[in-house]
Amino acid sequence: MRLSRYFLPVLKETPSEAQIVSHRLMLRAGMIKQSSAGIYSWLPLGFKVLRKLENIVHEEQQRAGHMPMLMPTIQSADLWRESGRYDAFGAEMLRIKDRHDRDLLFTPTAEELITDIFRAHVGSYKDLPLTMYQIQWKFRDEIRPRFGVMRGREFYMKDGYNFDLTKEDALHAYNRHLVSYLRTYERMGLKAIPMRADSGAMGGDNTHEFLVLAETGESEVFYDNAVTELSFGDREIDYDDVAQCAGVMDEFTNLYARTDETHDAALFEAVPEERRRVARGIEVGQIFYFGTKYSEAMGATVQGPDGKVVPVHMGSHGIGVSRLMGAIIEASHDDKGIIWPEGVTPFHCGIVNLRQGDVEADAACLALYEGLKALGLDPLYDDRKEGAGSKFATMDLIGLPWRITVGPRGLKNGVVELTSRRTGESEELPPEEAIKRVAEIYAAI
Ligand code: ATP
Ligand code: MG
Repeated sequence: MRLSRYFLPVLKETPSEAQIVSHRLMLRAGMIKQSSAGIYSWLPLGFKVLRKLENIVHEEQQRAGHMPMLMPTIQSADLWRESGRYDAFGAEMLRIKDRHDRDLLFTPTAEELITDIFRAHVGSYKDLPLTMYQIQWKFRDEIRPRFGVMRGREFYMKDGYNFDLTKEDALHAYNRHLVSYLRTYERMGLKAIPMRADSGAMGGDNTHEFLVLAETGESEVFYDNAVTELSFGDREIDYDDVAQCAGVMDEFTNLYARTDETHDAALFEAVPEERRRVARGIEVGQIFYFGTKYSEAMGATVQGPDGKVVPVHMGSHGIGVSRLMGAIIEASHDDKGIIWPEGVTPFHCGIVNLRQGDVEADAACLALYEGLKALGLDPLYDDRKEGAGSKFATMDLIGLPWRITVGPRGLKNGVVELTSRRTGESEELPPEEAIKRVAEIYAAI
């Protein structure tokens, strides 16, 4: 993409309404625009990152054997009356009436709808296990929408649902989700720690939240510092392997790590003092096993191998896809702007032409641009007639991890400059080498 043709409404001033750095940077980098409280338009740059996050979630869910599908955002209130949550959800639920005076709502989550689909089509244990998921807009009429996309009213969420014959099978589904979530966050360049949590309105007693440690986080967390040293790394996972998934689950949840609702002062005592931490975190996902709560209320049953009809065991699993963008920026920025991890960056590499209009500089930039694209990379070429300072400031603000700078002086010596956004380190090398280097970096992730 050529920057001269791209829609990138960068703001010079710091927007006064933004209280935290991710919100400020997303507004300044022209990624989002608020349309009303807690509701945003995703401008091209923000939308590009949202799609990347979404793709990683899709890939990792399908790797774990979960099936993508899509349910409507507008749902009938009747289903929610069956489960009892039409009233229980309270003021957070956006309620709508259609022209026939029927009660509808904008989905805040979808346990009821998926259970209705299940009971209409599944009757035998032979169709289990079954896990389906969607990535769909949700609406919760939050009392205090704030921090940009971190606490929106409309937000983008992956929600998945498992149906199993036994509790044991459902706990494997729970573990499988935990493992796939660890892998998902790692690909996004994030460390998200599973912590025992409160199940709230969802019901059940088995639940973990995934938290990214950050001072601006809204959750208070209590943990053994040793959890921050666990790393998922490059593991071969067989998602059908019950023992392996349970092993990863144990490894990542055996140490003390809890959110405030479940924090237990007595247990805290169990952590050696020098490793005890009280901090803040951003919740980027949550997994639940809630047994037969919805299946019993809504009659989602199957005939078991012994011929008996039993309610299915269920769980649900969410990832805050739009919130993740804020969380990644909170975890990865400096005073000049965003620093995207390679796995989610909107463009792989920036090209800065220091002498736009100079025949040689223009030709060298174009060759770099085409060369990168030919290798399947997605560069952003700053071909505007602007000064070097302004071009660097824009690149730093939007946070592309790699920048190639092209100027007449370097070209005389046959070199361009490759700069890492994260370290600020630069290296001079021939243009073909720079292309090769960038391609190698992305081939490795
Ligand atoms: P919170 O405690 O932050 O209100 P929640 O526990 O109610 O979130 P879940 O029902 O677990 O949310 O939804 C799954 C994920 O969706 C959360 O882990 C979070 O990342 C994301 N999410 C929830 N509410 C919002 C929101 N208002 N804006 C953006 N993302 C959200
Ligand atoms: Mg939650």
